[in-house]
Amino acid sequence: MKEHIYTIPVTGAFSEHTDKCPFCRLYEKLERDELDLILGASMMEPEIRRLTNEKGFCERHFGMLLTTKNRLGLGLILESHLEELKKDVKPGGAFARDIGAKSTGRIAELEQSCYICDRIEEKISKMFTTAAYLYDEEKDFRARFGEIKYFCLPHGRRWMSAAKEALSKDGYSALARALCDKNEKYLHSIKDDVSLFCKKFDYRFDDLPWGESKDSIERAARFLKGDRVKDQ
Ligand SMILES: [Zn+2]
Ligand SMILES: [Zn+2]
Repeated sequence: MKEHIYTIPVTGAFSEHTDKCPFCRLYEKLERDELDLILGASMMEPEIRRLTNEKGFCERHFGMLLTTKNRLGLGLILESHLEELKKDVKPGGAFARDIGAKSTGRIAELEQSCYICDRIEEKISKMFTTAAYLYDEEKDFRARFGEIKYFCLPHGRRWMSAAKEALSKDGYSALARALCDKNEKYLHSIKDDVSLFCKKFDYRFDDLPWGESKDSIERAARFLKGDRVKDQ
């Protein structure tokens, strides 16, 4: 196992819930940890301040930071981020060919960057690889995988890509087959649940039981986009 430091969290996420995407669990946990760290232990570290100055935060993570209690911590981070931006977000000099070029370039860069997203990405990308090795090598892990209902489509895709990179051709094919089978089954069942949900708006189907369809709209959204949809 090459990526052994993530074996415990990955195995844990595959064991916790069978009716949710385990990578969504891992993402949420990483995100919570980063939010705690940035306003706590790592807030005053110079290297981290340099990175938050440069990258800033995406809309999602700004939104989450705004709901935290540490207003002074956030204030200090923003104070130096804004100070840093002063040197770029301004008109070009009198002889500049394009007065707005420097400013728009930097703003475009800022729109694409987020300190927290990058930190999460660094770790979760290794977790996809760890999960691929675990699937390939551990019988127990494959048994846990068997119990899970589905993988959200974006995380399922990323897991297959990581497995393709990390595993032998046969190892990759076995994982891809099992994952595609599982998600195909779930796609069919969630589609049927959504159809039933829609049908129930027709009075002619008043007597038809709701079955599993009552929360099917939410479940379909989570299957398509992951658990992040719920808080956006
Ligand atoms: Zn997911
Ligand atoms: Zn972000």
